[in-house]
Amino acid sequence: MPPALLSSDSETIDCAIIGAGPAGLTAAIYLARFHLTTRLFDCGSSRAAMIPRTHNHAGFPGGIPGPELLARMHRQARDYGATCEAATVTAIERTGDDFVVRTDRTTLRARTVLLATGVVNHRPAGLEDALHDDALQRGLLRYCPICDGYEVTDRRVGVIGTSGHGMREALFLRGYTGDVTLIAPDTEHDLDDACIAALDDAGIRRVDGPCGDYRINGNHLIVRTATGELAFDSIYPALGSRIRSELAVAAGARASEDGCLEVDDHQRTSVPGLFAAGDVVKGLDQISHAMGEAGVAATTIRNLLAERHPIRR
Ligand SMILES: Cc1cc2nc3c(=O)[nH]c(=O)nc-3n(C[C@H](O)[C@H](O)[C@H](O)COP(=O)(O)OP(=O)(O)OC[C@H]3O[C@@H](n4cnc5c(N)ncnc54)[C@H](O)[C@@H]3O)c2cc1C
Repeated sequence: MPPALLSSDSETIDCAIIGAGPAGLTAAIYLARFHLTTRLFDCGSSRAAMIPRTHNHAGFPGGIPGPELLARMHRQARDYGATCEAATVTAIERTGDDFVVRTDRTTLRARTVLLATGVVNHRPAGLEDALHDDALQRGLLRYCPICDGYEVTDRRVGVIGTSGHGMREALFLRGYTGDVTLIAPDTEHDLDDACIAALDDAGIRRVDGPCGDYRINGNHLIVRTATGELAFDSIYPALGSRIRSELAVAAGARASEDGCLEVDDHQRTSVPGLFAAGDVVKGLDQISHAMGEAGVAATTIRNLLAERHPIRR
């Protein structure tokens, strides 16, 4: 179906929110409760939806599965009239003080835009989707030591990665367990002398790759390495991620070399009226951080719009 025609000026909305993860949904709740008009678009790939059960998100003793947290936030947003539309945003273009936002279904005009599109983790090569998802649900595969390192306390942990990034992740996990192995994803490790010294000092084993032939055996994830098959209670890929900032960058927003959007302490990007919150911005990559940034962004958006036209009931 071709995208619908651009809405007329009278239909210009206050804010288009791109992404319905913890950041976008928090902003939707705030903006709806400020009596502003919003549209929230999502293409269905929140990292939060991958969380089997988060235990570090405050306010939920016993933890809460990521999908359930998102469902609660969707319900809360809907209670105030903000519904999520299943669509992929394909472009944001500045026009005067406003923006034209194009999705695969419609085109609309918005006074402000909030980008909350998150990141996508790079997965280990050769780990097929069904096995990946099964291992993730069972805690055999994990992506976030800050989130769930506690759950691997005194367990046997593998980290797939190398160079400074792999070393830092392995060292972080060493705070939870004395049994950490850093496995090179491809062939040999790419570690300088300082990295090797730090790993040796912490008692972290180094194993060359390539990694492959993953399989689950009981409560273990098995991976083939250059030195044979190894079994782990949990494996953490430390392979980086793709930052989903391309829409904002194409609209002129400044980003770091790795693609994280630059924002000021009110979540404003370098493009006036274009805001960003959550993992797409350089930060902690945590639910609480995404929510906090979105609250700041939504309040700044409200105040910016009130400066342009007083908001009155
Ligand atoms: C396995 C795993 C476990 C984790 N565990 C924890 C934990 O225990 N505690 C914790 O605090 N954090 C945890 N995290 C991190 C947490 O999930 C993220 O920090 C959080 O989801 C970031 O929220 P966000 O809204 O910025 O991005 P996301 O939740 O990733 O949401 C971004 C949304 O943008 C949408 N989107 C992207 N591009 C477009 C587009 N062009 N058009 C429309 N929609 C688009 C996507 O569909 C997605 O829904 C975990 C992450 C993973 C992967």
